[in-house]
Amino acid sequence: MSLSLGIVVPCYNEAEVLSETTRRLVPIIDRMIEDGLITDGHVYYVNDGSKDATWSLISEFHENCAYVCGINLAGNVGHQNALVAGLETAADRDDIIISIDADLQDDINVIPEMVQSYIEGNDIVYGVRKERKTDTFFKRNTALAFYKLMNSLGVKSVYNHADYRLMSCRAVKQLLKFRERNLFLRGIVPLVGYKSSCVYYDRDKRFAGESKYPLSKMLNFAVDGITSFSVKPVRMILLLGVFFILVALGILIYVLVSYFSGNAMPGWSSTILSIWFVGGSILIGLGVVGEYIGKIYIEVKDRPRYNVEDKLLK
Ligand code: UDP
Ligand code: MG
Repeated sequence: MSLSLGIVVPCYNEAEVLSETTRRLVPIIDRMIEDGLITDGHVYYVNDGSKDATWSLISEFHENCAYVCGINLAGNVGHQNALVAGLETAADRDDIIISIDADLQDDINVIPEMVQSYIEGNDIVYGVRKERKTDTFFKRNTALAFYKLMNSLGVKSVYNHADYRLMSCRAVKQLLKFRERNLFLRGIVPLVGYKSSCVYYDRDKRFAGESKYPLSKMLNFAVDGITSFSVKPVRMILLLGVFFILVALGILIYVLVSYFSGNAMPGWSSTILSIWFVGGSILIGLGVVGEYIGKIYIEVKDRPRYNVEDKLLK
């Protein structure tokens, strides 16, 4: 039985790590072929509009190393879209596809285990971190808070799983039918619904370069994740509105009682307070609604997700 494995690696300004990444990935494929686990392999580096030497390095590896292919995007479209660009190419050429970050913080030694799990009948195999010892305190806790928030909003996702996963080519093809532009893959993949399993590993530090996800990008990602999947924030505005009407009724009673008992207060402070309070809530509400309208705006434009400039395949 022939089984071809594609490894998709999105790269944004990763010149510092790519040689090491290639040095580690190629032998893993070699070994799996030797062991008869797979019969062929490819590594697809997707250059996400890097400003450094990433693409020239990728072209060099394509010439000199086995398995290495390159996809050059015409600009920076973000991690998730770059990943989709790679998946789209790999889905036509390989039977199983693994996605992993260029910095190899996720342990590549569990790749054979993932492939084994596919052979045992799982279409999707999630790589799940055991602990987050190497992440900063801040990153660990914001990530935890985010997972909890997502869950409470009803978005099914796998705890401590990022974008390190194996998918069969039919799962990837199904995933590509989700045509939305605001992509939050780790929320969409469980919706594909095929049989899945998890493989556990320890997450390493980045061995070179720095995180391409500064706080601002992380926050954007979190907001996208929530508003692309859940309408609960909109419902919360409604509840808030109901709550305010109840409060207003209480105040009305208070005002009437004060009036008829003859000691109506000047009431300046309470008036000012309510103006600010209600004004603030209206603004929050508008903000949330605006968030969804913004999403609709982006979706209806139906723009292409990326633009491939060059492809180096083998
Ligand atoms: N990445 C990308 N486009 C971007 C930002 C990041 O393709 O605009 C890639 C990056 O090269 C890496 C992966 O996404 O392969 C994850 O980024 P990083 O390791 O910096 O994130 P962290 O591990 O800090 O969450
Ligand atoms: Mg990383």
